[in-house]
Amino acid sequence: MNHTEAKPDTRVCVPPVRDDVVYLDYQSSKPVDPRVVEAMAPYYTQNFGNASALHGVGDEATEALDEARARVARFFGANPEEIVFTSGATESNNLGIIGYALRNKRKGDHVIISEAEHISVLNVGKYLEKNGFRVTRVPLDMYGRVSPKKLAARITDDTILVSIGWASNEIGTVQPIAAIAELLAGRDIALHTDAVAAEGLLPIDVREVPVDLMTLSSNDVYGPRGVGALYVRKGVGVAPVMVGGGQERGLRSGTEDVASIAGFATATDIMASEMLAEVERVRAMRDRLVERVLAEIPDVHLNGHPTERLPNNAHFRFEAVEGEAMVLSLRDYGIAASTGSACSSKTLEPSHTLISCGLLHEEAHGSLEFTFGRFNREDDVDRVIAVLPDVIERLRAMSPLYRPKK
Ligand code: PMP
Repeated sequence: MNHTEAKPDTRVCVPPVRDDVVYLDYQSSKPVDPRVVEAMAPYYTQNFGNASALHGVGDEATEALDEARARVARFFGANPEEIVFTSGATESNNLGIIGYALRNKRKGDHVIISEAEHISVLNVGKYLEKNGFRVTRVPLDMYGRVSPKKLAARITDDTILVSIGWASNEIGTVQPIAAIAELLAGRDIALHTDAVAAEGLLPIDVREVPVDLMTLSSNDVYGPRGVGALYVRKGVGVAPVMVGGGQERGLRSGTEDVASIAGFATATDIMASEMLAEVERVRAMRDRLVERVLAEIPDVHLNGHPTERLPNNAHFRFEAVEGEAMVLSLRDYGIAASTGSACSSKTLEPSHTLISCGLLHEEAHGSLEFTFGRFNREDDVDRVIAVLPDVIERLRAMSPLYRPKK
C-alpha cells in the first residue's frame, strides 16, 4: 500500500473553499486544505490498520505513524520521539500542564500562567488549584504582553512550571517567548507554551526557542480537526492524564487516528513550503483592512500590540457598539467575523484578555476580530469596507452611549 507523500505545490492559494461567505474567522476554525483531504483518504479505506496490531496491516499503520511523526517534528525543529499525538490543543494543554505538574510535584507546587491564556489553559489552572497546586496569573500590559520582569518577580522556590502562550488567539499579541525561555534557562522550571495561535504564522523552532513543552494543533496549519500534538523535550518528565493501552510512549493512550495524524503531517509539509509567501499575502490584506477601518470609521481603536502581533489578526474596539451586534449585522452581509475567542463566546463575560489590558467592561464588549487565512482573496477586504462603516453608523444611531467626538 502506498503512503501518500505530501504534495506541496507552487500554488500559494488554491481556489476558495467557500464562495458564499467572506470568511474572516480563521482563528476559530480553518478549512482543511484539499491537498490534505486527498492525502488522508487512503488511511480510511486502505491503510486502516491499528498500529498496535502484529500483522502486516498493523505494521503499515505503524510505518505511516512513524513517518508522520517525523514530518510534524521536522516542521517544529523537534526530534520525532519528542512528539506525542493527542486529540487537539485542549488535550495537549491538559497533558502538558497537568501531566508535568503531577509528575514533578515533589519539586514544588507552584505554577505560573498569564492572563492572556486560552480558556483551556485558564481552566487547567483552576483544576490545579482544586488539586493542591498554587497558580499565579501574570497580568498583561496595555498591549496584552507579559513582561519577563513581572514574570520573574512571581517566581518562588516552589515554582515548577511556567505556561505562556506564544501568541494570543484573540488580540494577536505575540509574547516575548524567547526572552521568557532565556529567563528560565538554568533554573529547574519548565516552560510550556500553547503555540496554537502562532502556528503557520510565525516561525516556530524549538532549537531556536528552547521551550520544554509545546501545544500544537493540526487545524491551525489547515489539517483536520480533532488531532494535535504535545512537544515534550527529551528528558522532561510528564505523567499521563489518560491511561489505557499505553500508546504514544504511555503518555496518551488510545488507538492512534492514523488518517488524521497523516493529514496533520501533510499540512505541516505544505505549510513548510508555502508559509513565507502565504504570510506576506495575508499580512498585506490585514494591513489594508486595518488602515481602511481606522481611516474610514470614527472612534475605533486597534486592540493588541501595534507591531508585535500575528500577521493575520485585526482586532478592533468600536466605541459604544456591542461586539455581538456587529458580528450579527455582518453575518447578514455574508461576512463571518468574531467578537474574540469562539471557545469563550458562550460565557457572555467580556474578554479576560482585554480586561487584563486595562479596558473597562463596556469597552471590552465593543470588540470585533477579523482573522485572515490561506483562502482569502484581495477583494474580501473591499467587501468588508463596503458595509462596515454603515453597520457601525446604524448601530451607533441606536446606541444611547454614543457621543461623536468629531
Ligand atoms: N489554544 C488556543 C490558543 C486556541 O486558539 C484554541 C482553540 N482554537 C485551543 C487552545 C483549543 O483548541 P481545541 O478546541 O481544538 O482543543
